Amino acid sequence: MKLVLLGPPGAGKGTQAARLKEKYRIPQLSTGDILRAAIAAGTPAGKRIKAIVDKGGLVPDETVVGIIAERIAEPDAKAGFILDGFPRTVPQAEALDTLLASKNGGLDIVIELEVDDAALLERIAKRASETRASGGAVRADDNPEAFKVRLAAYHAQTAPVAEYYAKKGLLTAIDGMAPPDIVANAIEHVLETGAPRKRAC
Ligand code: ADP
Repeated sequence: MKLVLLGPPGAGKGTQAARLKEKYRIPQLSTGDILRAAIAAGTPAGKRIKAIVDKGGLVPDETVVGIIAERIAEPDAKAGFILDGFPRTVPQAEALDTLLASKNGGLDIVIELEVDDAALLERIAKRASETRASGGAVRADDNPEAFKVRLAAYHAQTAPVAEYYAKKGLLTAIDGMAPPDIVANAIEHVLETGAPRKRAC
């Protein structure tokens, strides 16, 4: 199964992707995690992108497309994968189509988690304070300023990606406001029954 999880920052893509990874035994490919690891390791690419990621902006398409091209070519991604945080722009979605056409066959489904903006801000603030309380390192972009930039990038650049997949008949929207277990059940239901797809209007 080749699946894309779409949704605004804080929608729960990472949480749901981790569950799906366990259930379906396919890798979770998160560009955010890969980029943060590159930054933490201080690689040349990590150094180039640190300022962009910390401020909440989008890393250039060529960089993330290159990362994903390498990652989906690895053996564990042959049977399928869950993309979380990619594609985030229409050119990234087009590049993914090209990559898959030459390799593994097209995507099976795109699931969009819908959460309203006010709830997202609350979730991010909660995630930061819980991480701090447990002695963990808070993400450099989990602060109100960077979050505003991330949300604006989502509305301007990533919302059209949902439309792109709706036009292809691949998109299913799920209410992401519910607790994680309920959202997980809804996703599972869609994957097992092939629920109605959201068409572009
Ligand atoms: P979230 O969805 O919670 O904002 P992610 O972990 O997916 O978090 O992404 C964190 C940051 O990493 C983004 O704000 C952006 O700077 C960078 N990033 C991740 N994926 C992409 C992508 N596909 N294209 C461009 N930038 C990306």
